[in-house]
Amino acid sequence: MSDPRISDSTSAGEGSTQPAWERPRVLLRRMRSSCATEKVWKWSIPAWSGRLPDGRPYNSCPSAGECRKMCYARAGMFMIPSVLRAHQRNLQYARDEPDAWQAQMIKELQLPRFRPVFDMPTHVRVHDSGDWYSDDYLSRWLEIMRSAPDVVFYNYSKEVDRLKRIAQPDPPQNFIWRYSYGGLQDELIEPHDLHADVFPDEASLAAAGYVSQTPSDLLAAYGPEKLGLAANNLPGQKRKQGDKSFRALQRAANARAASRRYPRRGPASHRPESR
Ligand code: SF4
Repeated sequence: MSDPRISDSTSAGEGSTQPAWERPRVLLRRMRSSCATEKVWKWSIPAWSGRLPDGRPYNSCPSAGECRKMCYARAGMFMIPSVLRAHQRNLQYARDEPDAWQAQMIKELQLPRFRPVFDMPTHVRVHDSGDWYSDDYLSRWLEIMRSAPDVVFYNYSKEVDRLKRIAQPDPPQNFIWRYSYGGLQDELIEPHDLHADVFPDEASLAAAGYVSQTPSDLLAAYGPEKLGLAANNLPGQKRKQGDKSFRALQRAANARAASRRYPRRGPASHRPESR
């Protein structure tokens, strides 16, 4: 539903106190990939929580857990004001004008640049930051994917319950998703699910029996069940992560939360006798 506080750039009158609302003209951007032959595009919304320029709060990663403390998308390039603003504008559009956003996305995917080249499909990574923030948003994306059967869509997500409820029963044939550890729903990830974990470095990833995603982002779609990512070279984040994987950090956080909820009592023999 559109928010009346957001003014259209064409209607924001002179002297208006509201910032002009400018819809993004292009929704999908080319992704810088480690492999030049891959045609990969991306859809970005901001990571975790913040405020839109008009002051409204958002949380685009509602199931983020420990990952948010070391999130690669809350540092570096992603925090350059123009980049963050562009991602916020994408979120604002999808959230406030979902019908117009969805129609524009479907139309954009019909452009020649999304057609297969020599039988190689074009890929779209949905979210290089952010996540499925609502049921409606995910359902709309599933419709978008069905409208572009020649394009392959892939995604990492911590919204395990939402994907299992909404996407898994009848997934579009061109959608591959992978759960990633470090979120509040880690315990819903089953052993056979495609999943990813973030490790301090390549050596610890290999030692844990994971295959590295470093050679190609498309391993998210086509890689084995256990895909590992080496932490980005962001000193603050690396310090917080220490020598643990995101999965291990989330497990430890869950255990701490459980012990706060259910404090351990001493052995029964030390308790005063009940009458
Ligand atoms: S879910 Fe992903 S984008 Fe969101 S806070 Fe966690 S690591 Fe960052």
